[in-house]
Amino acid sequence: MKKLLLHTCCGPCLLSAQLALREKYHIIPFWYNPNIHPYREFKRRLNAFKEVVGENESIIDNTYDLKLYFNAVEWGDNRCEGCYRLRLSRSADIAREAGIDLFTTTLLISPYQDISLICDTGREEGIRAGVGFLCQDMREHYEEGHQMARDMGLYMQGYCGCVFSEEERYRKKK
Ligand code: SF4
Repeated sequence: MKKLLLHTCCGPCLLSAQLALREKYHIIPFWYNPNIHPYREFKRRLNAFKEVVGENESIIDNTYDLKLYFNAVEWGDNRCEGCYRLRLSRSADIAREAGIDLFTTTLLISPYQDISLICDTGREEGIRAGVGFLCQDMREHYEEGHQMARDMGLYMQGYCGCVFSEEERYRKKK
């Protein structure tokens, strides 16, 4: 069974992605999300990741660096491209350093993300680093994994991650 480094954005999406990938791959979840703000939110999501992983193998880079994120993204509607690249670039490098065959991301489980942009970016970063990127649409497992997360009482976030997405999510609710 091939090893797969699974860049993971949060615990609920990890549960969903595991449903999609576990039959075919030896999954190694990888945490790297400098895009999640503010720090208490970052810690909540990291703790949920650890809760799902438990004693199983995983890799954590718990960098919380606002400047790193803001320097990586364009201001405006294109910010997600830089955000994807920041995380997928690091994932590709970690996969290569750890001798893991392939990498992918739980972002591909989400109905709220741009799947073709994620795959284009992942492939480019895979070529740069010399590691294969797995582009698999896993959205059919989104609901089942998230229901599992609710049943576990896992922390469920309300917005994508960055301060921009937090505003977009909650400004309308006033
Ligand atoms: S909305 Fe989500 S994917 Fe886009 S920049 Fe913010 S955290 Fe990154």
